[in-house]
Amino acid sequence: MPTAPLTVFYSPAYVVEGRMETVTKAKLVAKLIESGKAGEVRLQAPKLATRKELELIHDPEYVRRTFEETGAFLEVGPWSLPLLNSILASTGGMRDAVNEALRTGRSGSLSSGLHHARRRSGNGFCQFNGLALAALEALKKVKTVGILDLDAHAGGGTFDILGEDPRVYLADITVNSFDSWEPTNSARHFYHEVRDPQSYLGQVEDALHFLGPVDCLIYNAGMDTYEKAGGLKGITKDIIRKRERLVAEWARRRKIPHLFALAGGYKWGGLSLEQIAELHLETVQAFAQS
Ligand SMILES: [Zn+2]
Repeated sequence: MPTAPLTVFYSPAYVVEGRMETVTKAKLVAKLIESGKAGEVRLQAPKLATRKELELIHDPEYVRRTFEETGAFLEVGPWSLPLLNSILASTGGMRDAVNEALRTGRSGSLSSGLHHARRRSGNGFCQFNGLALAALEALKKVKTVGILDLDAHAGGGTFDILGEDPRVYLADITVNSFDSWEPTNSARHFYHEVRDPQSYLGQVEDALHFLGPVDCLIYNAGMDTYEKAGGLKGITKDIIRKRERLVAEWARRRKIPHLFALAGGYKWGGLSLEQIAELHLETVQAFAQS
């Protein structure tokens, strides 16, 4: 039976040329999608995140500083209006993607730079936590939400904002100790740092099993776990491809709405931005087929 096209949120506003990968690579992923390489995928522009929405997940004073003070975005400064717009567009993309997934079963947004952002501060190239916003948006319609974070680094910001929320399950597998967090609830928090690449996919299966009770899955599909993208030696492209299929097929089998964000994927391992975009396309393909 043919499946409906996958809707992925993106607009040129996501992109600020000459900046960090978090605000440049989406353009190349969109180009690959438009060329038909990910299968039947439709790109759609999201509505910008509003200040009011951001105050649901961040301290109002932090939001105010980001909007009004030059230099509040310390990680990728200097601050500029296109950069603010880019972050508002990609954060809004997560809210629109969750609503699309709740309506049609699956979706995604070409958003990056989300999971290190805490309630009161930006961190690690992340200004606003679009994963947290998407989770709260989903919880208007479902009882529980799972955030699966397979970026190389941990989602310490997501834990800071949602760790105490009894409706939110967090599963985080890292290959790097940056931004680690300590589980405080054994029923809702799964955290594991992988050192042996051979055990990686088994850990992903365990994380998915742990997320069994959730009604909606938000997937932070970082590519910086890949050995040539600065990740763990032994995590090959084949492992990454299998990982994306495991996640998408698990959600499809369980018939729960699922959506992805791009997350990490950088040039510092020696890859070009085009090669990073090709990696992210694996996620889009897996979701398009599911
Ligand atoms: Zn990362």
